[in-house]
Amino acid sequence: MSRLNDTAARVPVVPRLHWPADEPPVARHRTFEADPGDVLLAALARATIDFLTGPERERLRACTAPRCVRYFVKSHGRQEWCRISCGNRARAARHYRRHHTPGRADGEGIDRTGDVTAT
Ligand SMILES: [Zn+2]
Repeated sequence: MSRLNDTAARVPVVPRLHWPADEPPVARHRTFEADPGDVLLAALARATIDFLTGPERERLRACTAPRCVRYFVKSHGRQEWCRISCGNRARAARHYRRHHTPGRADGEGIDRTGDVTAT
């Protein structure tokens, strides 16, 4: 955590009000002369801090698809996967397990939780 805070503080920023005609005001952050790599790392660290301290943190999930290591922000109630292709892969793997479990020629299988399921 101290590394994250140190990285965020590597490049100081100053908020500047930008208020174009007929548009809502926005805050833009101005950085001072700094190494472009430091500017990028500091911006990523600040965004991480904003995310972890904001309301979206409660919706952060790890994708449960096989071989996926991504995290995502859950956008609807039953979302389990980070993207459609992960959902398709997870459903295909579940189908394969149900129908290719050794010793199960009767359509029963074992799902990823270890529960026996009937098809
Ligand atoms: Zn995924």
